[in-house]
Amino acid sequence: MKTLITGGAGFIGSHLAEALLTAGHEIVVVDDLSTGRYENIRALRDHPRFRVFISSILDRSLMEPLIAECDEIYHLAAAVGVRLIIEEPVETIETNILGTEVVLNLASKYNKKTLLASTSEVYGKNNAVPFREDDDSVIGATTKSRWSYACSKAMDEFLALAYHKQKGLPVIIVRLFNTVGPRQTGRYGMVIPNFVRQALLGQPLTVFGDGEQSRCFMHVQDAVKALIALMAHPDAVGQIFNLGSDQEVTINELARRVIHLTESSSTIQHIPYHQAYEPGFEDMRRRVPDISKLRRLIGFAPQRSLDEILCSVIEYFRNGRTVDDVA
Ligand code: UDP
Repeated sequence: MKTLITGGAGFIGSHLAEALLTAGHEIVVVDDLSTGRYENIRALRDHPRFRVFISSILDRSLMEPLIAECDEIYHLAAAVGVRLIIEEPVETIETNILGTEVVLNLASKYNKKTLLASTSEVYGKNNAVPFREDDDSVIGATTKSRWSYACSKAMDEFLALAYHKQKGLPVIIVRLFNTVGPRQTGRYGMVIPNFVRQALLGQPLTVFGDGEQSRCFMHVQDAVKALIALMAHPDAVGQIFNLGSDQEVTINELARRVIHLTESSSTIQHIPYHQAYEPGFEDMRRRVPDISKLRRLIGFAPQRSLDEILCSVIEYFRNGRTVDDVA
């Protein structure tokens, strides 16, 4: 089985590449290293069944032969991270919309099964948790750049479903909720790598807002297992799935857990949202997936607890962190 992974040098993509290599696949990665890092796939580069192209997915002439020759596509390449979206809104919108258009158009031309990585952001400010796949997207004003990410990924979903309906393309859409683990950097604002880095350096942990907002964190290995199972399941085609943990934790509690597990002397510092991001920034109070659809189809249940997740990130930062991680 020849598998193309766009964004395969990224945090989730590189773990997926490893798992699929172990399962015997031949892997081709396309990544422009905008948020991915070569470091993530360095250990794979000499593997006889692994190839990587450092290039943009917008390069149609590169993508066409790769898609023509592969059996299946995991489309993970996208701009991610709330901080990046606020700082580089043009790149976010263009990568997410134009890049997906290239991938889906070619996937349709050669009829290749495609799994599109989408995001819990598409639920936006909807506060009817837990979110079910057919719930509404509640998106804020277009003047608030955070929502451009949700809208761009929602457009990707519309396009994938349109290709499925109109052209018969076998697509699977997966909305990833907060996913963490080794290799995730704090550069794009993600909370757990930020907190772990701060705790290990003895700096205050920066909790944005009042810290009573909550999230559910899933280990990347749980995510990868589910992505592979969905790709293999014939009944997943044409469907949308939430993928995440349903164990909720407030950001204040998360900060306390990180301080405890690192045995750090760090304090907790609350920073108003407008200072942390930009004036008028809107955050969601709670974000909890309803994962019953995924459980029914593939028997999904996240295996790793929050403490296990945190310990794996702490160990990664203690042993293997690179210059990038502390940037
Ligand atoms: N957050 C925080 N301190 C940080 C980074 C993030 O308090 O250093 C908060 C952020 O405002 C949000 C939550 O932690 O409420 C999760 O943020 P993240 O960017 O990891 O993911 P999101 O759920 O916002 O996509």
